[in-house]
Amino acid sequence: MDAINKIKDKSRLRKASIWSVRWKKVNNEWVLGNAKPCKYCRSLMIRWGIKHVYYSDDNGVIQKENINNMQSKLTSGSVIHLRSNLGYKDISFQRPICYNCKL
Ligand SMILES: [Zn+2]
Repeated sequence: MDAINKIKDKSRLRKASIWSVRWKKVNNEWVLGNAKPCKYCRSLMIRWGIKHVYYSDDNGVIQKENINNMQSKLTSGSVIHLRSNLGYKDISFQRPICYNCKL
């Protein structure tokens, strides 16, 4: 997400694909971890006109999905973010759950 935020001309993203891959360390070995974009990321990607997303799943396998068909979860971080957008002030941010938007 940070990389995308740095792109000023978002129209260049049209029909682009996005890669979301995360590495985690298990038993001193680096393996792919789940980096599926959450519902909040997905809505941003749709707005930017991105067509496909590649992401690593829990089994370390790269998945490719059409963004319109992707079943994204609303992470508890997304819920907190949405609530704060609605004006709730007593929101405490917990550890990030979605790797992409840090929510
Ligand atoms: Zn996200």
